[in-house]
Amino acid sequence: MIILALDALDNNYVQKFNCKNLIQKEHGQTTLKGFNQERTIVLWASFLTGKNMEKEIPIKTQWEFKLHPEQTFLKFFQKYKVIDLPAFSYKQQNHEKERKLLKGYFEDKVTVEEYESLIWKNHEENKKEFFKNLGKFPLLIGYFNLADAIGHLSFGLTEKMATVYEELDKIAEEAKPSEDLILIISDHGMKAVGRYGDHSRNGFYSSNIQLGLNLPEITSFYKIIERIAKNEFS
Ligand SMILES: [Zn+2]
Repeated sequence: MIILALDALDNNYVQKFNCKNLIQKEHGQTTLKGFNQERTIVLWASFLTGKNMEKEIPIKTQWEFKLHPEQTFLKFFQKYKVIDLPAFSYKQQNHEKERKLLKGYFEDKVTVEEYESLIWKNHEENKKEFFKNLGKFPLLIGYFNLADAIGHLSFGLTEKMATVYEELDKIAEEAKPSEDLILIISDHGMKAVGRYGDHSRNGFYSSNIQLGLNLPEITSFYKIIERIAKNEFS
């Protein structure tokens, strides 16, 4: 099984930019009902555990929060590779630098180009790692924050976001020939605030098999992934 964890991937842009590979056999929005905020770390932790983790993750120390495999659906797999997923194998240093440059942008110390060049560099690192491991594990999770990180400064700039969605669509296209079961999921969506972007309350999901879901919650996938791991889906 392959999970593409695409931070802030938004259904409106997936449709608008006609991302044929992100739109799989079954696709739609997810709902964040039950969550008070759209916090990235909380949502990925909730995805992994199948439980709403909002109360358990204090905002102040949220980025350090880390789950043990036994708390997550990873325990249903004999072997897995999880690249950069928040709340599990998050690359602290890379993302700390990103947040520092983002802060610097709003303090007029860093340009958009400097910020974006780091985001793309980190993206390429994850991409390389993802394709190196493709087909080698019963479960491979690749996390990509490109849509979120570029979106925060440029969600209102359609051309720039088209490039981002095209890139993510290409990753989905290149993962396809593995003939594996592919789940694509985002934690939340995004909405434009002028040129900038802010988290919105609907995420996106798609799968290359019929799951029969209707506006699922991010916690709904735990049981599905458990069934997939136990070979109850075919
Ligand atoms: Zn996020």
